[in-house]
Amino acid sequence: MDEGGGTVTKYAKLILELINQSKGHMTAEQIFLKLKKTEPGVVQATVYNNLSTLCKEGMIRKVPMEDSPDRYDRIQKHDHLVCKKCGKLSDICFDDLTKDLEKQLGEGILSYDLKVFYLCPKCREEEKRRYHDGLQM
Ligand SMILES: [Zn+2]
Ligand SMILES: [Zn+2]
Repeated sequence: MDEGGGTVTKYAKLILELINQSKGHMTAEQIFLKLKKTEPGVVQATVYNNLSTLCKEGMIRKVPMEDSPDRYDRIQKHDHLVCKKCGKLSDICFDDLTKDLEKQLGEGILSYDLKVFYLCPKCREEEKRRYHDGLQM
C-alpha cells in the first residue's frame, strides 16, 4: 500500500473531514483516537504521516503551541486568540490586515498568521475573584 508520495489516501480524506468539522483544534493524538473509532485498523504513524502531507499540500494548517503539542486546524482564514493562563485556543475573525501589512512592508504578502494572547473570560473571572479574596483577607 502506498501511503506517501503526496497522494490523498482514504485516511487523509477522513482526517481532513475530521479537522474541517471540528473547531476544537485537535492534537495529532486526539485526531488518531477519534479516527480509530471508525477505523479500528489505523495506526498512529499513518495519522502523523497524513497530517504532515495535508500540511505540506496546504489543505490544513498546523498551529504551534508553546507548552503543548501542535494543533491542527482548517485552512479557512481566521485568527487565533490564546489564553496566556490556561492555553485555551479560540477562533476569531479580525478584519483582514493584509492591506495594512502590505502598506507597512511596502510590498505584497502571501499570508500572515496572527496569534493574539489574552486572558480568556474564565481566567479573567478567576483573577478577579482572587483579587477580591485577597482584599478580604
Ligand atoms: Zn484561560
Ligand atoms: Zn482555528
